[in-house]
This record gives sequence, structure tokens and C-alpha cells, in this order.
Amino acid sequence: MYDYLIVGAGLFGSIFAYEANKAGKKVLVIDKRDHLAGNVYTENVDGINVHKYGAHIFHTSNKEVWDYVNQFAEFNRYTNAPVARYKDELYNLPFNMNTFSKMWNVKTPAEAKAKIEEQVKEAGITEPKNLEEQAISMVGQDIYEKLIKGYTGKQWGKECKDLPSFIIKRLPVRFVYDDNYFNDKYQGIPEGGYTQIVEKMLDGIEVRLGEDFFDKRSEYENIAEKIVFTGMIDEYYDYCYGELEYRSLRFETEELDVENYQGNAVVNYTEYEIPYTRIIEHKHFEFLCQGANEESIPKTVITKEYPATWTKGDEPYYPMNDDKNNALYAKYKELADKEEKVIFGGRLGMYKYFDMHNVVAEALDCVRTEIG
Ligand code: FAD
Ligand code: UDP
Repeated sequence: MYDYLIVGAGLFGSIFAYEANKAGKKVLVIDKRDHLAGNVYTENVDGINVHKYGAHIFHTSNKEVWDYVNQFAEFNRYTNAPVARYKDELYNLPFNMNTFSKMWNVKTPAEAKAKIEEQVKEAGITEPKNLEEQAISMVGQDIYEKLIKGYTGKQWGKECKDLPSFIIKRLPVRFVYDDNYFNDKYQGIPEGGYTQIVEKMLDGIEVRLGEDFFDKRSEYENIAEKIVFTGMIDEYYDYCYGELEYRSLRFETEELDVENYQGNAVVNYTEYEIPYTRIIEHKHFEFLCQGANEESIPKTVITKEYPATWTKGDEPYYPMNDDKNNALYAKYKELADKEEKVIFGGRLGMYKYFDMHNVVAEALDCVRTEIG
């Protein structure tokens, strides 16, 4: 008998397991995948740490969260600065003076602001009610058309006017020449990848990989005093109120005999007609930040990220947090709140578009409330 069965060896489950184990609890972790670390999993391919489930850049303004993850790895000084490619044009992201000056040949913040104001006025938007209106009111019609409309349409499989505004509010808009994708105080990539972090957290803890909770539900329900469940909450309740919507992805990874394929870790393809949203070149996450250069390995690994419709059995990479799905989740949450034995956590258990730093904070909160 265990004190805790933890379903999911991603960040949430692993932090809970680490803290519970430290507090003397007997813990069992299971994961249906054949590896640890959930979506932050990285794998070393010929000296390059490959982010198997898409680019993962750690960023936070929460010092406690930053210090917490730094116990398990040394983070480099990587700053995310994606480039957006629209047809033959290249633009810097997030939306900043470099983007504005390339788009409109403006030079000062006042000129850029005037251009945006003029376009917002033309569009007649006063109170943005959806992602399209929110985007136009932040950066104007031209940037919306070239850098947001196509990318967002393929990423979510819906038109911008049918999507919630919060998705685009994730991106900064700034009137300085600064391409840092995040506003957070701390940012970096763990030297040597993310998997080692989870390996250290789970060191000395019993872990069973390739085990799906639902394949042996009755056994696993009775194996521990309590369950921490980080899979899909609607699946846990056998979709009794209906299915929550998710968005899936397909990753296509290739190793190429070139030193430097695209000159940046992340290049977004913002036109609708190209079926992938971005190409990640993994070596750029770590090489220059650690003093090595691209030539030290004459190869590179790239991943194309294709958005995909989610149907049962696919990987649910993104929750679709619009009003309809949030209302459905609230019904599942009511059931969850009545559970005495089960705690739901993480991106799928709590059905929230969490970044890693949110998950670390949630997991620490949860384990403290639970164990003290
Ligand atoms: P997960 O990592 O999904 O872990 C859940 C685990 O539970 C999985 O391993 C799964 O196999 C297992 N599981 C599920 N159901 C069962 C079951 N029935 N039985 C057994 N095991 C089960 N965040 C950032 O901060 N920065 C970024 O740059 C960033 N980029 C991202 C890019 C992409 C493409 C994606 C999809 C996410 C990105 N994120 C990023 C978010 C980040 O991945 C998540 O916040 C974090 O990994 C969530 O951790 P988790 O433990 O909640 O979930
Ligand atoms: N987005 C966009 N164009 C871009 C990059 C992002 O329109 O070049 C929009 C898109 O809707 C995306 C959202 O901004 O889903 C948030 O972007 P982020 O990079 O945070 O997405 P994630 O890395 O979580 O997929």
C-alpha cells in the first residue's frame, strides 16, 4: 500500500512525488508513456538536446519558482526571440519596434503608435470581444493579417473571431527595440535538457512506465491512500458530461547534415497555406549560450510542428479554454471538489493552458496544502 499513487510523470506529478517522498511518504508514480518528464521530455541526439514535444523555454517572474527549478539544473541565459516568416518577408517577434519598423518603415514609437491607432480606428473596434478584435486593437490590421490570422487559424483550427482574446494576450507588445518573447524577470533553458530535472526529482521513487491508469483502473484505485491524477479530467470521469475540446500536434523531426539550418531556435510560419506553425532548430537553445558554436557539431536537428484536430486517443497538447469548454470543465471540477481520495493537477487535470512555471507553482501549492 502506498500513501500516494501519482498518475503522470510530467512536471506536476514529479514535483508532487519529490516533495511527498521528502516528507517520508510512500509514493508510486505511473505514466503511460515509455519515458519520464511528460511534455518537457528532452532526448540527446548526437550531442543536441531535442525537445521532443516542442520548444520549451522556462520563464517566470516568481523567484521561488525560479530558485526551485534551479536546484535541479543549471539554466543558461537563452532568451527566446522568434522570427516570423510570412511569404518572403521576415519579421521579429514579439510585436515590438523591430516588427513595426519592418512592417511600416516607421522609426519612432510615436510613429508606430499612430499607425496602430489609425488602423484600429479604421476597423471600428472599441471593446474587443474576440481574438481577432483583440489582436487588431493591440497591433493594427496589417500585423494581424500577416503575422496572426494565418498562424492562429491553423494552430487552433478555428477562425480568430471564434477564439478567446486571452490567447493573443500571451504575447507582449512593446514600443522598444527588444525581441525578447517574454516579459518575465527570469528565463533560460536547463543545460543538458529537461529530462535530468525529472530524473533527479524521481530518484529513489518507484516509477512504472508504459502503465495506463485506465487499463488497470480497479487495481490502481486501491493501491494507495490517495491519487494525484495529472491526466485528462474528463477521461477520469468517463466523459460523463461530454468531451472537453483539446488541440493536438504532430511533430516531424529530421537530422540534417548542415551546421546551422535557420539561424534561430524558433522560426514561425505565419501564412495559413504552410501546414506547420513553426520550425524548431534545437541546437540553438543551448549552444551559443554555453560558449560552444554551431561548427562544433556539423549536424543539426529540426522539428516541424503541425497542429492537428484532437480526437480520443490523440495526445491532448492544448486545452481549448473558451467559454463553452470552461463551463464544461466547471462541471467536472464540481465532481473533483467532492473527491476525498483524488487530487487533480497539471495542464490536463486542471484543464488550463499552463506554462511550466504555472505548473511548478500549482504543484508546490498543492503538495503544501496536502502534506504541509
Ligand atoms: P504533462 O507534461 O502533460 O504530463 C502529464 C503526464 O501524464 C504525461 O506524461 C502523460 O503521459 C501522463 N498521463 C496522462 N494520462 C495518463 C494515464 N491515463 N495513465 C498514465 N499516465 C498518464 N511551457 C513553458 O513554460 N514554456 C514553453 O516554451 C512551453 N512550450 C510548450 C510547447 C508545446 C508544444 C506544448 C504542448 C506545451 C508547452 N509548454 C511550455 C507547456 C508545458 O509543456 C506544460 O505546462 C507542462 O509540461 C505541463 O506539465 P504537466 O505535468 O501538467 O503535464
Ligand atoms: N501567435 C500568432 N503568431 C505568431 C505567434 C503566436 O498569431 O507568430 C498567436 C497564436 O494564436 C498562438 C498565441 O499567439 O496560439 C500564443 O502564442 P505562444 O507562442 O504563446 O503559443 P504556444 O508556444 O503556447 O503554442
